[in-house]
Amino acid sequence: MNAGTQVVVIGAGPCGLATAAELLRRGIRVRIFESSSAPSQGSRAIMLWPPAQAVLDDLEVLASARSRAHRPDCLDYFGDRGRLVRVRLNASQSPLVLPQSRTDALLEEAVHRVGGTVERGQRLVDVAQTDDAVEAVIRDGTGRHERQCAQWLIGADGVHSTVRELLGIAFAGSALPTRFALAEGELTGAQAPTSPSYYLTSRGGLVIAPLPNGCVRVAGSIHDGRQASEQLVQNMLDTRGPGGLRMDRFQALTTFSSAERVVERMRAGRVLLVGDAAHTHSAIGGQGLNLGLQDVRNLSWKLAGVITGRLDDAILDTYGPERIAAARQVIKTTGAVTRVALASPPWSALRNAALKVAERTSRAPNWYAARVAGQRIRHPTTSLGRPPGFRGTGLPAPEWAAPLSHHMPDRLLLVTSGPPNGPLPRAADAMAQRHTSLISHHHVPRQRPEFLLIRPDGYVAARGGFKSLPRTERLLVAISPATTSRKDSHDATADI
Ligand SMILES: Cc1cc2nc3c(=O)[nH]c(=O)nc-3n(C[C@H](O)[C@H](O)[C@H](O)COP(=O)(O)OP(=O)(O)OC[C@H]3O[C@@H](n4cnc5c(N)ncnc54)[C@H](O)[C@@H]3O)c2cc1C
Repeated sequence: MNAGTQVVVIGAGPCGLATAAELLRRGIRVRIFESSSAPSQGSRAIMLWPPAQAVLDDLEVLASARSRAHRPDCLDYFGDRGRLVRVRLNASQSPLVLPQSRTDALLEEAVHRVGGTVERGQRLVDVAQTDDAVEAVIRDGTGRHERQCAQWLIGADGVHSTVRELLGIAFAGSALPTRFALAEGELTGAQAPTSPSYYLTSRGGLVIAPLPNGCVRVAGSIHDGRQASEQLVQNMLDTRGPGGLRMDRFQALTTFSSAERVVERMRAGRVLLVGDAAHTHSAIGGQGLNLGLQDVRNLSWKLAGVITGRLDDAILDTYGPERIAAARQVIKTTGAVTRVALASPPWSALRNAALKVAERTSRAPNWYAARVAGQRIRHPTTSLGRPPGFRGTGLPAPEWAAPLSHHMPDRLLLVTSGPPNGPLPRAADAMAQRHTSLISHHHVPRQRPEFLLIRPDGYVAARGGFKSLPRTERLLVAISPATTSRKDSHDATADI
């Protein structure tokens, strides 16, 4: 038994690896147990949208990911008679296309860099908890059991999560009716697409996505009981694709289906769920890994803050509601896109006509680009998300992701603007000094005096002007654990 362990992470998929690296870099002692004896080689999630890239950036592996990835600047949609619409992705929206095995390898590299190691061939078989600790029972390949105590346990053990089942957390939802054939290999032919291309034809749907290693992913809907085969994939290319394409040197061939499910809660006492263990949805749109990495970004600064005593335990109660709401929004969008993409005649003709019209107005493609890029996720009101705000400032609104990078893993960032010696930056400075372990203040010389309070995960906690600063301080007091500082802050608020 390792008594110094503060957090046990179950599962070394991308979400478990990212959680471990995020906690380790904040000085938390972590053990990571993974049931498989070797890293997974499958390509699975190939699209890393900007919010997922922000996590790689936090963990200092974004540059390596970029150097290995393909970076498309549009998504193309075709019907029976040529292109329907091109969705352009601007620089802040474009994904990195990278096989998941490479993303996993980069995240494991990040774990090693901050002193962690993955313990493979170690399966969680039981969990027990008291008010003060949690105990994981781990079985190795020889059948030997180890008991590991920790302050917290993270279930990052995928869609069939043992942690979720052991805790009896409901995973409500239903299976999606359509199955898909997925293949990766080399594609030849004059019409081979250079960006992700979606073929919405009267004979079914097909996706062709170029990968960075010279290979291409092809996935198509199957409406009967057939299994994926090289012949089936070639038939799909011939009947649904642009024509004249030949697929060879298959490296992956599989049949899969999806479900839409979300857990009823993401926290049970000292146990928290992240990633596929907490939500699953249609693979169309490539959002699964992105959603999971956002769970990790949301949770890690809060949990590290609680463990190090800078944040009140109650902040962890904001995690589940925020991320369940995010998962429901993603399920709504991916579910709608899947149903529209797989519509049969006559609805498919109507859909294609609408997409053709959308091509002529930039509004609909821009609306979709922002959603698929993960820029329209909104958190519900929690103690960290209903601060004073005023509309029309041009600043991001509370609860929305701020289009700002934030490189302070442990503290919120209070950004003020306006005259450098004005009342707002002076009050903000004083506030930052009263809460040195919680916030840092940064002033930017911009004409209008206003402020933005940004959380370490990039979300906006508050915005406003001079008059709303005291109410924002109450938010800091609410998440701060020290009762003495609460009193000091209340007194000090009156001085602002
Ligand atoms: C075919 C396919 C295509 C996909 N394409 C995309 C895409 O383009 N974009 C996207 O964002 N997402 C995509 N996804 C989804 C994406 O792969 C998942 O969302 C992502 O892998 C979730 O990561 P995770 O770490 O939560 O879980 P997982 O990757 O499933 O990792 C869980 C880990 O926990 C381990 N484990 C399980 N039980 C135990 C136990 N009891 N003890 C110890 N370890 C345990 C498992 O071995 C595994 O390594 C795709 C999925 C599939 C199947």
